[in-house]
Amino acid sequence: FSPISAIFLVGFTAYAIIKHRFLDIRLIIARSISYALLIITFSLIYAGGLFGLGTLITRSQGTTANSIVSAVLAIAIAFSFQPLRRFLEKITDKIFYKEKYDSNKLIYKLSLKMAENIQLDVLTGEILEILRDEMRISTASFLVITKKGLEYTIKDHNTFHSQPTKEELKLISEEGKILIFEELEKGKVKNVLRKHNLSVFTPLTTKGKRVGYLLLGEKSSGDIYYDQDIKTLSILASQFAISIQNAQSYEEITKFNKTLKQEVDKATLNLQVANKRLTELGKLKDEFFSIAAHELRTPLTAIQGNTSLIQEYFGDDIRKNKDLEEMVEDVNESSKRLIKIVNDYLDASRLEQGRIVFKNKNIDIKEIITDVVAETKELATEKNLYIKLGEEINAKLLQVFADKDRVKQVIYNLVGNAIKYTKQGGLTIHAQEENGSLLLRFEDTGIGIDPEGQQLLFQKFQQVGENHLDRKTNRGAGIGLYISKLLVESMGGKIYLEKSEVNKGSIFTFTLPLAKVAKTA
Ligand code: ADP
Repeated sequence: FSPISAIFLVGFTAYAIIKHRFLDIRLIIARSISYALLIITFSLIYAGGLFGLGTLITRSQGTTANSIVSAVLAIAIAFSFQPLRRFLEKITDKIFYKEKYDSNKLIYKLSLKMAENIQLDVLTGEILEILRDEMRISTASFLVITKKGLEYTIKDHNTFHSQPTKEELKLISEEGKILIFEELEKGKVKNVLRKHNLSVFTPLTTKGKRVGYLLLGEKSSGDIYYDQDIKTLSILASQFAISIQNAQSYEEITKFNKTLKQEVDKATLNLQVANKRLTELGKLKDEFFSIAAHELRTPLTAIQGNTSLIQEYFGDDIRKNKDLEEMVEDVNESSKRLIKIVNDYLDASRLEQGRIVFKNKNIDIKEIITDVVAETKELATEKNLYIKLGEEINAKLLQVFADKDRVKQVIYNLVGNAIKYTKQGGLTIHAQEENGSLLLRFEDTGIGIDPEGQQLLFQKFQQVGENHLDRKTNRGAGIGLYISKLLVESMGGKIYLEKSEVNKGSIFTFTLPLAKVAKTA
């Protein structure tokens, strides 16, 4: 071997070691030095101990003492070996690995940051900062794949490297592996990394989905990336991917929430406008009805009055022609019904506007009930229906504090409905005192109301269920219960459907305050 070939051999070996990261030369040197120091230290202790102590003791004690000293020294060395080794390693590490970081600590630190941050740009910014500081990397950036397929860069704030084009990215990420510039064969991929000053290129993938890439430039010390660096990066890559994906989901949800809120706000505004318009229209409609009802009342009364007169004065003539008689009767009945509807409507609108004055005083309920029963008796008998009064109504004086005419109107309405919506059986009226009120209950054996229809009762213009009525017993305008409710409530009472079952019957109930007891002085 000539010295020249020896130099070449050493040179090549060194190059191969560095290039392929076969051995961490520095580690070997550092450990060699620390072990050499260790051996020297112990040799000195041993020699010094034997020589010093040994000569002192052997002079008087002989060889047994000599072996005791050796044993003591051996024990001392055994105990001090580990601490001393660690101490020397620390010193040599400090000298040879000025930039060494603890990968466990780095992973821990980054994991904490990832757990803390959910905002994408903050998260990636902080990761890059830590990586740059701990690994001492000159340039670092993330390329994040967004939903739209666009990729954008979050750069380390202090450094910059150019960004690969889409085509270049496609080329270098094809294999999905971490690329280390120095380990790459010559070729297109290596050229791309060279062009953008990239030393390490790490694809970030989670559950088979590519989330982005981590791009790292050279180390600021000019060092290569060690095995430790690459291992750490490959552990971190999947964690980065998960965190980025989480941050993206969070961003999406936040954005969605924002859009949703905007949409809701917009819809609310539209609804408010529509609502205002509706209220205006409702008012206009009420006004129109009110005017129309007033205008209708006069001619309707004329029609009804005249047909009555015709029946009275030309009865004999009419009766000669059966068809004519029926027609006149029809006109008379229809105009009566129309007048009732018009009056009901005017009543409702006056009640709504609070334009009705109630003349409340102590009144006898029995009297009113008897009146209404007398007035409706004919209707009931026509249909073969009974109207019964509970015993308690006759047994006791039942007085309430209310407007007589208005109470009659309500009772008339409930009795009328009971007759109208009952085919067989009839109606029983009960009364009972309860908590300072009088409870009046109207129990019929009629067609009943299904649960759906029950929801609509007491509302304006609500007619519920199918029309079971024959031609003679026409429905009203669906306003009777609505007016009754307004009336009862205005007099301080309540009205409700107590119970109803289809084809079995219904119980309508309303309350009124009991009569006021005159104060005796
Ligand atoms: P209408 O003028 O149509 O009778 P109401 O306001 O008095 O209007 O009643 C509303 C609806 O409630 C009626 O159309 C009818 O379907 C139902 N209804 C009221 N009273 C009874 C009853 N006693 N039995 C069954 N259904 C009733």
